[in-house]
Amino acid sequence: SIQIQLVRRPVGTPSPADFRTVTVDLPELGEDEVRVRNEYVSVDPYMRGRMNDAKSYVQPFGLDETMTGGAVGRVIESRSDTLPVGTAVLHGFGWRNVAQGPAQQFSPLPETGLPLSAFLGAAGMTGLTAYAGLKRVAALREGDVVFISGAAGAVGSIAGQIARKLGASRVLGSAGSAAKVSLLKDRYGYDEAFNYKDAPVRQQLRALTPDGIDVYFDNVGGDHLEAALDRLNTGGRAALCGAISQYNDTGRTPGPDNLANLVTRSLKLEGFIVGQHQDLQPEFAEKMTQWLTEGSVVFDETVVDGIENAVDAFLDMMKGANTGKMLVRP
Ligand code: NDP
Repeated sequence: SIQIQLVRRPVGTPSPADFRTVTVDLPELGEDEVRVRNEYVSVDPYMRGRMNDAKSYVQPFGLDETMTGGAVGRVIESRSDTLPVGTAVLHGFGWRNVAQGPAQQFSPLPETGLPLSAFLGAAGMTGLTAYAGLKRVAALREGDVVFISGAAGAVGSIAGQIARKLGASRVLGSAGSAAKVSLLKDRYGYDEAFNYKDAPVRQQLRALTPDGIDVYFDNVGGDHLEAALDRLNTGGRAALCGAISQYNDTGRTPGPDNLANLVTRSLKLEGFIVGQHQDLQPEFAEKMTQWLTEGSVVFDETVVDGIENAVDAFLDMMKGANTGKMLVRP
């Protein structure tokens, strides 16, 4: 099995030298174990946090250990009655081309007709993040004006479409290139979009929101959060999903300069972790499977070939090289 390991904790932006590729001889399968050939391996922003030796909602990655994380594949060898050869599975063994272990650590995927890769994105963790964040955390209501940052990424591209499904009257998004801005409007159903690199976010968001916003779905933090706090209407809600603009920061990051708006406009900001909302998984799975099958929600993937390129895929994703979900095809 070819695997990618973390060998050094990055300071600031990670570099390829923080990782190494190893080839591991796999032992014969034990009882109730399976061997899985990965078809897609996920690289995600939260992994940057796990590279630090810091207490958080997930354990740090171990040094000289193989990077764990979401992956999908098919069973190629089995000593399990529940997962025969050929079964499509989702698991957390991460950055390797072949994974092996106890059958109960692999979850069989439903037969939906969707491609396996979708279960790492639109129909998987990032899709549920968009759904839970808008529906429960931000309590999106019919007629709300919604602003989503990181709008062309895995979570954001689905969030814009879900916001519409949940009754948003206007959906606005930001992303980091002109091509992404076009996609937001032409493909993901955003009413308005802007490139945050063109001019200050505050200025661009103000120009697009004469009537303010009711909901902000924050993937980015920093300037984006500050700009959204300027524009949130009385009773407005923000779901704080991530702060990718700060993940490589080494010092302390300044807070928004306009937190007083929380008081004067009765705003509610709530951070969340998708894992706390697993109870929404059944309803999400049912709705999303239907939406994707009928084509009323679309999704994109940026696929990098070769497990040995997983580090580059991760680093490129952090810089915005992806549209939709960034995946590695081992
Ligand atoms: P994406 O597919 O959105 O990929 C990351 C994107 O971030 C890049 O494509 C890039 O797009 C954008 N980006 C990078 N640097 C900056 C910056 N300085 N300012 C603005 N945008 C930047 O990743 P995901 O959809 O997987 O994750 C999106 C967010 O959601 C992250 O913050 C992540 O941590 C969070 N998340 C939270 C979860 C939770 O449970 N709370 C679960 C899953 C994700 P661009 O070209 O537009 O700059």
